[in-house]
Amino acid sequence: MAERPTVLAATSLTKVYPIRRGVIWKRTIGEVRAVDGVTLTLRAGESVGIVGESGSGKSTTARLLLGLEAPTSGSVEVTGDDLAGLSARQLRRKRRDIQIVLQDPYLSLNPRMTVSAILREPFAIHPDALAPNQSSRQAVAGLLEQVGLGPEFANRYPHQFSGGQRQRIGVARAIALRPKIVVADEPVSALDVSVRAQIMNLLLDLRDELGLSYVFISHDLAVVRQIADKVAVMYSGSVVETGGRDDIYSRAAHPYTRSLLAAARRRAGAVPSSRTDTAGRASGSDATLGAGCRFRWRCWKADDACAGSPPKLEPVPGSSPDHLVACYCPDADDSGE
Ligand code: ADP
Ligand code: MG
Repeated sequence: MAERPTVLAATSLTKVYPIRRGVIWKRTIGEVRAVDGVTLTLRAGESVGIVGESGSGKSTTARLLLGLEAPTSGSVEVTGDDLAGLSARQLRRKRRDIQIVLQDPYLSLNPRMTVSAILREPFAIHPDALAPNQSSRQAVAGLLEQVGLGPEFANRYPHQFSGGQRQRIGVARAIALRPKIVVADEPVSALDVSVRAQIMNLLLDLRDELGLSYVFISHDLAVVRQIADKVAVMYSGSVVETGGRDDIYSRAAHPYTRSLLAAARRRAGAVPSSRTDTAGRASGSDATLGAGCRFRWRCWKADDACAGSPPKLEPVPGSSPDHLVACYCPDADDSGE
């Protein structure tokens, strides 16, 4: 079978923000490497999950992939074009190919616009996205149907909807221009557990129907498992482990991935516990974290080697060739699921 084309490729993506202090005169007192050397590729119809705790750089990665911010270094290629080489106009046009679904449908929908107006907006910017002889009203009706909402919803306002319905509108807006890639940043994290499954099923159905590729971001490995063909685990701005689903869920090699798996199992009720598995989150600027592996402050396996140069992503011995881990003392045994 021919390999499916690559639709998204990020290479050594890095984003550094200055840390500023001061009320009148802002002084730069340090920097935070929000994203540090992230490389990932996505083929047509494939889904990659990005997992990591709050502050690990997931949303910044999302903004870089969408071209909403420019990376400090590294590159993003969307459907064959390097975003850095595009004019503002070309970048706008490129946005048809890559769209975002945000965590909080409450914040991402204009409260003063009807659903119909919200969903017509993309077509005002890209009228050529309408089918021949199709009105934007017809397109809106089609979108509502695709996300499982009746036509009667068109003239209502976002506050008249439940959280799940609002997220359906967020999804409808994201697919309006028939993108090839949807970046979903914690799309179900703000929803009640009972509603989550419905939205996950909607995303899965739309993937099959429209041939979408997803970058699916979550802090919860259990959620990512439902949708991702491959997974990248981020810690403190970097990918510390990546691989296919089975690599991550059955053969996790990084201590951090293992702690996330344990946390997901506890949430599922397997082992009720209020104890967290690792020590408190290390925080602070790069200067305070020092050199070496950034996870070592929380790692029960850390030794002297981990304080030296930071570990690079390397193939996990005995696993599949796509399974990479950045750790000097990875686990090689089965993680026992
Ligand atoms: P996540 O989505 O995984 O929670 P983020 O990408 O939002 O992580 O943030 C990663 C790090 O970058 C955090 O330390 C955050 O405080 C910092 N950060 C994100 N955006 C900015 C910004 N615009 N300016 C300064 N720091 C930022
Ligand atoms: Mg985030």
